[in-house]
Amino acid sequence: VTLDNDVVPEDRPLVAGIGISSPERLVFPGAAYTKLQVAQYYERTAERILHAAADRPLSLLRLPEGLKGQQFFQKHAGKGFPEGLKVIDITQSDGKAEPYMFVADAAGLVAAAQMGTIEFHIWGSRRDRLERPDRMVFDLDPDEGLGFDAVKEAAVDIRDTLQGLGLPSWPLLSGGKGVHVVVPLRRVSGWDTVKLYAHVFSQLVASRAPDRYTTQMSKAKRKGRIFIDWLRNERGATAIAPFSLRARQNAPVAVPVSWEELADIKSAAAFTLETVAKRSWENVEIPPAVGITAKSIERLEAAFK
Ligand code: ATP
Ligand code: MN
Ligand code: MN
Repeated sequence: VTLDNDVVPEDRPLVAGIGISSPERLVFPGAAYTKLQVAQYYERTAERILHAAADRPLSLLRLPEGLKGQQFFQKHAGKGFPEGLKVIDITQSDGKAEPYMFVADAAGLVAAAQMGTIEFHIWGSRRDRLERPDRMVFDLDPDEGLGFDAVKEAAVDIRDTLQGLGLPSWPLLSGGKGVHVVVPLRRVSGWDTVKLYAHVFSQLVASRAPDRYTTQMSKAKRKGRIFIDWLRNERGATAIAPFSLRARQNAPVAVPVSWEELADIKSAAAFTLETVAKRSWENVEIPPAVGITAKSIERLEAAFK
């Protein structure tokens, strides 16, 4: 039987105009959330997700069989992808262009969910100016055994150090173990400058408290410390999108919070598919964007003395 692409089989419930196959499949077996509920989550949360994720190259974490099955991290668009998932060709460092994905509307998010996507990961730049990042992210990764209080302290430490250098920031609960401290950027500099800034800044923080932080990814260097993952800030790197679900027990969500409320939050996975309903960008104060320039790096280097 050949199916016309425009014809949705009748047994598929429609979400944002997309027919959902296997709607009853248990994607989150513990919490008993189905594939249909995941698709509906992305429909009702679309506006909040698109606020930060629209028009950015995306990577998708797909789990077609749900949490119990295999998962894969997909960077490139494939053949026969649904229309809602749009394609942008991006030239790589080797000079070859590869098709990346982006979404612009609820149908795009739900089309991805229909393909088994649970997590949406975003680039730090938008497709109209791919070479000029508009966000810098410090992804705080605690060593196993470190509690969430240590993560919160680190986030505040980074906020204060950034503030001292003229860079305001906001915190995102990752939905996993850590917090991402995000700096909104004016699009005045390229990837090299932003990555260099993120690296040197992380080294500054670590040099002031080497017993608490490391800037090196290796698990051995992490022993009892928090890895300040500055590597989210290179061209092609991604970080979890605000309001994306996470493919973990209980369907946690990555949620922006205010610095004030962070103090009382007990876990990076404090909000779930259900409890996130009342959260919005209005709960958070996003500071105005600032530019990072060669001058900013000079000032940062001076802070080592
Ligand atoms: P946590 O708070 O638990 O650390 P996280 O989202 O910050 O959650 P990390 O492992 O610290 O998780 O971050 C990994 C980031 O790297 C992801 O956000 C993702 O965008 C990116 N990434 C790159 N390659 C992969 C991959 N193969 N699988 C998963 N993530 C990947
Ligand atoms: Mn992390
Ligand atoms: Mn990380």
